[in-house]
This record gives sequence, C-alpha cells and structure tokens, in this order.
Amino acid sequence: MSMPEFIIKIDKERCKGCGLCIEFCPRKVLTFSAEINRKGYHPPQPSSPENCTGCLSCILVCPDLAIDIFRKESREVSV
Ligand code: SF4
Ligand code: SF4
Repeated sequence: MSMPEFIIKIDKERCKGCGLCIEFCPRKVLTFSAEINRKGYHPPQPSSPENCTGCLSCILVCPDLAIDIFRKESREVSV
C-alpha cells in the first residue's frame, strides 16, 4: 500500500526571502534556512515535509515563482 506524499522544491536563487510562503503554510512546513543565496537572502527550507498536504498555498503566495510541489508515491522498501 502506498501513501501519497509531496516533494517541495524551492529554487533558492529565485527567492527574495519575503517569508510569505512560511507565513501562509497552514501546516508550518517551511522555515527559513541558515543558507544565504546570491542575492543575500535566506531561502526557506521544508523543515517538516511529512506534514505537507499539497494545498499549494505556498506556490500561490510566492511572488517569485520559486516553489514547486510534486506528488510522489512512496513505496515500501524491503532490505
Ligand atoms: S503545499 Fe501547502 S502544506 Fe505544503 S508546504 Fe505548501 S503551503 Fe505548506
Ligand atoms: S514566498 Fe517565495 S520569495 Fe518569498 S520566501 Fe517563500 S520562496 Fe522565497
């Protein structure tokens, strides 16, 4: 059985560190990273991607089109 989950991709160099995606994520998935991009901003990172519901709010509020969300199918892996 597979569970849907989401991959959050952030284009760090497009980001201007406005924090809107962090503020508007209903699940508080995103936080500022310690990293600094070429423009001198801290891009967000998915701190708890397992909580993402794929609502796309972060994409809608990002003024720089820096976020993509993908659905992925996770599979059980036996080792
Ligand atoms: S898709 Fe929704 S839940 Fe997932 S990171 Fe973006 S705003 Fe948060
Ligand atoms: S909304 Fe976009 S530009 Fe603003 S912090 Fe998030 S990723 Fe960066």
